[in-house]
Amino acid sequence: MSALREILDRIEAARPPGGSPVRLLAVSKGQPVERIAALAAQGQRHFGENYVQEALVKIAALAGRGLVWHLIGPLQSNKCADAARHFDRVESLDRAKLVPLLAAARPADLAPLEVLVQVKLDDEATKSGARPAEVPELCRLVASEPRLSLRGLMTIPRPDPDLAVRRARFADLKALFDALRRDFPSIDTLSMGMSEDFETAIAEGATEVRIGTALFGPRPG
Ligand SMILES: *Cc1c(COP(=O)(O)O)cnc(C)c1O
Repeated sequence: MSALREILDRIEAARPPGGSPVRLLAVSKGQPVERIAALAAQGQRHFGENYVQEALVKIAALAGRGLVWHLIGPLQSNKCADAARHFDRVESLDRAKLVPLLAAARPADLAPLEVLVQVKLDDEATKSGARPAEVPELCRLVASEPRLSLRGLMTIPRPDPDLAVRRARFADLKALFDALRRDFPSIDTLSMGMSEDFETAIAEGATEVRIGTALFGPRPG
């Protein structure tokens, strides 16, 4: 069985009865174009990249195949224009300053750029993500921009060895997601869970999981 089939089966098996469908985002950072093309040939459409420069080469090389590109790495203001022009979705918006930069650079002939707000649930000063208290205002700003489409929340919890701790963080994000959905009806995506904990994240309500190594094997280099 292919690695893709195996992951898709595990995602399906982890879904709570009656739960929403869960999208697989294949995290292709560090992977060469040929490996992405091979997964695309097996039917995988959504790919996640961390670095804008690295991604631009791949997006150009694989143009015309109907792939959907998500930026999941930390977003810097000097990369906003390239991100808005070449990605379909940005999952790592974490500060107000970036909102007008993304909106202004989104080309008029493309659909609005889909945006997830990245939330920081553990109090680590160095890690990117907005604090939960800042999230409603960020959502309001994104929703007010016609060239942006607010779609949901993303988080990367601290890789605590105790899965119960990560499960509690996922539940925290799900509660925030449910609360925001009442004010922002366009919100439909809860992106949480990676290779080591995606089944736990799905049990707590993830609608998208971001998987790299469990799909591609260890990253080269
Ligand atoms: C690298 C990365 C992933 C995938 O991590 P794996 O452990 O390889 O599955 C998911 N999300 C983000 C934001 C990442 O940077």
